[in-house]
Order: sequence, then structure tokens, then C-alpha cells
Amino acid sequence: MSTTGIPVNTPLLDGNERKYLLECIESGWISSEGPFVRRFEESFAERVDRHHGVAVCNGTAALDAAVEALGIGAGDEVILPAFTIISCIAQIVRAGATPVLVDSDPVTWNMDVREVEARITPRTRAIMVVHIYGLPVDMDPLLKIAARHGLAVIEDAAQMHGQTYKGRPCGSFGDLSTFSFYPNKHVTTGEGGMVLANDDKLADDCRSLRNLCFQPHKRFVHERLGWNLRMTNLQAALGLAQLERLDEFLVRKRRMGARYDAALSTLPAIQLPLVETSYARNAYWVYGIVLGEERDMDAEEAMRQLAARGIGTRPFFCPMHWQPVLQRKGLFESESYPVAERLYTRGFYIPSGLGLAKAEQDRVCEAVTEVLA
Ligand SMILES: *Cc1c(COP(=O)(O)O)cnc(C)c1O
Repeated sequence: MSTTGIPVNTPLLDGNERKYLLECIESGWISSEGPFVRRFEESFAERVDRHHGVAVCNGTAALDAAVEALGIGAGDEVILPAFTIISCIAQIVRAGATPVLVDSDPVTWNMDVREVEARITPRTRAIMVVHIYGLPVDMDPLLKIAARHGLAVIEDAAQMHGQTYKGRPCGSFGDLSTFSFYPNKHVTTGEGGMVLANDDKLADDCRSLRNLCFQPHKRFVHERLGWNLRMTNLQAALGLAQLERLDEFLVRKRRMGARYDAALSTLPAIQLPLVETSYARNAYWVYGIVLGEERDMDAEEAMRQLAARGIGTRPFFCPMHWQPVLQRKGLFESESYPVAERLYTRGFYIPSGLGLAKAEQDRVCEAVTEVLA
């Protein structure tokens, strides 16, 4: 067993990754024109029950393309959770639209769907749903609200590969859904992402936006500004090999979650991830811990003490209304989202990667117990 530290994430790359990468090198296909890109798009789209998959260079880019494909711009409002990553809000703000926040459910840590309807105005164009840390958002009521008000839905499923809601794949909901393939996700391409849709026109728009909006017949004449968001054949080769093992990865993640539950659930004054809801079993994208308010110790202090014991951690998301860059734009003045604020100040996650060995997990449990007993 290694005596060095245990990183918060270690990917698992011992399937066909090497074989497929070699195929890229030996065939000379390394750019986005290579055959693995289409194979990965088709396989992934099939896995999440979508007609179209558009592979891009990361999950943030997938969200950017989704927001732009829906034509969201000045005068529009988009509802999204306060407790999420900056990637969700960036293009909304850059496009001149107004982000409107909702707080989290204290038990699932997901956006509180009951708060959504009160935030709808005549300017609302879309709801961005973000499934957080392993449990999906309660989609049925959310989709009903969206339909009743004629709103588009963007589903950020970056943490939900293989997860289902009432048996339906996460990423199959919404007009557009997005994934990330960063190394801490259940399927990784190093860096990578995908936008998925059923609608032909939305998918075509995303394909065009990904590729600088080159036009098929007048390549260097542009009607619209896009980006270069292309995924390479090398990345897609990795992704395809990873995708082949997704079911096995889910089993590993859930086993890891159950082991952490068994070791940590008797510790006082902490909240652990919910094992399941009526619509899903937790997929433990990461294993989070939220410190009770009766404790003096906050997340920062707990992470510091774990770091001193060689255990890697990450803080929970800092809520959008607390982001200096957004406050300086005059957004969210005097707004408060108490659950998201508490999750940020009291929450962090412990090593949860697919490559985490059992002996390492035991060491994490010992250290967490020392710090939090
Ligand atoms: C990881 C993640 C992203 C961003 O993906 P990148 O590939 O890192 O750009 C977006 N949304 C959520 C919810 C994520 O977890």
C-alpha cells in the first residue's frame, strides 16, 4: 500500500483504452475527422435514448452550445440552481440573458423543484436542470412546469452517466442534454463533453456551433458565430472504451458508496448522501459529507485536517449568488439561498474515483473517523 496521499480522484483506464488509442496512432486518425468520434457519439446517444449526440471538447462547451442553440439572449431569463458549477451560468451571462436562481433541496442537494414555478416570469425562456453528485432532479414535476409555461429545458447530466430517473436514462430529458467526460466523471475522455438532442434542427445547430459555423457549400462564409469545440479521435477512442464498461463502473461506484456508508454513518452530526429516493438509487458521482451546524468545524477546517493525513478532498460548489464575478455585474444583489450557502460552507467530498482501491478507501475511512468522531 502506498504511503503517499490518496487523491480525490483516480480514473480507471484498464479496458480497451490502450487498444483504441493505438488504432488512432497507427491509422493516423487523430483529429476530429476520425471514425471514433462518430462511433462514440452514436453509442453514447443510444445509451441515453437520444437520436443525436454531438461530441465536443468539454462539458462546459456542451452547455455553451446548448444555450446558444436555443437562441437565448438579451431580455431572456433562464432558471437554474444556485448550487452548481460556473459552467452552467457562463454562457447565459455572456449572451446577455438573466440567470434566475432557485435554492437546493436540503436532502437531495438538487434544485428544489417546488421553488421553480414562483420564479417564472413572462421573460423566462428556459430551465436548466443540473443533477447533483449522484441523484437526479425530480424530473416529472419539472417537465410538467416547463410544458405548462412553454419553456425549453436544458439538462446538465455531467455527473449522471448511466444513472436513471424512474428507469429512464438521465440525459434523455429536456430539449437538449449535456455531459462532461472530465477524468472524475463515470466516463472520461481526458477532456470532453457531449450535447444530446432528439430534435434534428437543434442537433444540427449544435454541430454547426461546434465547428465555427462553417457552411457546407461556402465554407469560409459565416452566417453565425460559433466556436471550435471539436472533440478529437483520440478522446473519442478513450470514451468508447470507457463506455463499454459503464455498467461495471456503476456497480463499483455503488459498492464504494455502500462501504463509505457502513464506515461513516455512525459519526455524529454529519449528513451523508441519500442512498435512494422514490425515483433513483444514488450513483455516487462523488461521496459528499455535510457537517452539521452543531459542529464548530466547517468544511474548510475538515478538509485541512484530512489533507494533513494525506487525504484529498474537494469543497462543494460555491453558490452562484456568491460568485464575485457575477456580483460585480450587479447580479443577485441581496439574494439569499440558505440551503446552497450551507452546503458550500459545510460540505466537501472525499476520494470517490473509480480507481480508488479498497485498501485506500479503508485509509480514507480511518482518517475521516479520526477527524470527525
Ligand atoms: C464537470 C461538470 C461540468 C463541466 O464539465 P467540464 O468537462 O469540466 O467542462 C458541468 N456541469 C456539471 C454539473 C459538472 O459536474
